Amino acid sequence: MSGLPGPSARHVTVRAPGKVNLSLRVGPPRPDGYHPVASVYLAVSLAETVTAVARPDGDARITLAESTRRPSSVDTRDVPWDERNLAHRAALHLRQSLGLAPETHGVHLEVSKQVPVAGGMGGGSADAAAALLACSVLWDTGLTRSELAELAAPLGADVPFAVTGGAAVGRGTGTELTPVAARRPVHLVLVPADAGLSTPVVFRTLDELRSLGRAPEGQGEPAVDADVVRALAQADPLALALAMENDLQTPAVTLFPELSDVMDVGLDEGALRAMVSGSGPTLLLLAHSEQDAARLATAVQERTGVAALAVHGPVPGANVL
Ligand code: ATP
Repeated sequence: MSGLPGPSARHVTVRAPGKVNLSLRVGPPRPDGYHPVASVYLAVSLAETVTAVARPDGDARITLAESTRRPSSVDTRDVPWDERNLAHRAALHLRQSLGLAPETHGVHLEVSKQVPVAGGMGGGSADAAAALLACSVLWDTGLTRSELAELAAPLGADVPFAVTGGAAVGRGTGTELTPVAARRPVHLVLVPADAGLSTPVVFRTLDELRSLGRAPEGQGEPAVDADVVRALAQADPLALALAMENDLQTPAVTLFPELSDVMDVGLDEGALRAMVSGSGPTLLLLAHSEQDAARLATAVQERTGVAALAVHGPVPGANVL
């Protein structure tokens, strides 16, 4: 982390990416209630920005940046701007884990959101990752990126990946990461929904559908889709389209049936594949190229009235601006 601001920095701004899961295999719940997953994560060019400003009074505060308060931007009504916010929890977690004195490690976090809230794109996790790195630099902890990713795991399954970024296989609850090579950028169109889906509710619905025989059973330790990893390494969008899978798609569509119609529009407009992103309801459409993604985004927006976004990945993890 050379070239980062040193201990004299009084404010640090960090950008951290949202993610999509190109593959998400989910096993049955373990005795501790967690579902084991095998996921292929891709960090995408839609990012959150967090600025950490030193507070001499030792307090920890969090606010939404003015730029995100415009009506046209992300709907942040369901985000708590207090100690329940994942970025706020990340700052306190770092302070406590390192035994830093609160009196001399106060911070104000200002969060600028671009990633849809409760959209299955890990926006809260990106905020937490950005807050971790910003506070780590502000407090001159000297932690490396991999140490920060390790420290991030208790905050949430997707937080370590938002620290490391790129493309990676995630196992366990998603926090055990192995980087994956992607030879060329993957071009996608993201279609956000006008309402969110609760991740725990989507997982519970998957369990219910499986117990009713309405969704395929999951393996105890789900296996990673090797074809997805291969398609990324070979930069083959058609192979990727065939290999992509998401076990959470059936429960997400059961809870939010309109998603099927939007996926049909995407396919009708030439998407190579339409799939729910993570626990949804954001949809991802796979495109051939950057130009194709731009065209597809415009076409889907015209037909559905939803602001579709052309993005690409992999992009780096949390980084200081
Ligand atoms: P994931 O796929 O990682 O489960 P998601 O992308 O579906 O998450 P988030 O946008 O991370 O969903 O938010 C899920 C919920 O977490 C929100 O509804 C909100 O109540 C809560 N939350 C806490 N902190 C944040 C934050 N900084 N940004 C967004 N939501 C937050």
